[in-house]
Amino acid sequence: MTKLLAESLVRDIPDFPKPGILFKDITPVVQNYDALKEVVEKMAEFGRSCKVDMVVGIEARGFLFGAPIALELKTGFVPLRKLGKLPGNRITEEYALEYGTNTVEIHNDAIEPGMRVLIVDDLLATGGTAAAAARLVERVHGVVAGICFLAELDFLEGRKALEKYPLCSLLHYD
Ligand code: AMP
Repeated sequence: MTKLLAESLVRDIPDFPKPGILFKDITPVVQNYDALKEVVEKMAEFGRSCKVDMVVGIEARGFLFGAPIALELKTGFVPLRKLGKLPGNRITEEYALEYGTNTVEIHNDAIEPGMRVLIVDDLLATGGTAAAAARLVERVHGVVAGICFLAELDFLEGRKALEKYPLCSLLHYD
């Protein structure tokens, strides 16, 4: 398989946002037209194989890929946001972080019952964020048809939390 341009562009930022975390910075990927186009096309290819009617992106970096993937797939895009950011009627899911909890929300009229949804984020770590996103989609009666990421930290085994869904990550880190 040919190497993706994005692989050489993702950069490691040690000790961000706190000591001991090696942050995978994807901003150089979205800054580069060829790299962005390539990864959006690859993720859209996966979405197409899942036959989705809607793309859901997880705030904030999931938006960077999710909206252009939706354009490729000719679907709408639904932003899944952190606590308190959505103005309309919404439902909430809390999930565990290494320390404490985080909350994601979706507008309860964003997805029609039975719609097949592709969930998009930049990176899969422990899987807690994407699992909460999947629960939200299911609570509004959508079908999680696939979940895709630009990158996956394989050693955290986050895909175990998502094993009932078709999954795609373009880049893998041990
Ligand atoms: P998790 O819920 O543990 O799978 O974490 C995934 C979410 O946290 C994604 O939205 C990522 O953007 C972010 N994230 C977690 N760990 C990292 C990391 N090492 N580098 C960059 N982003 C990360």
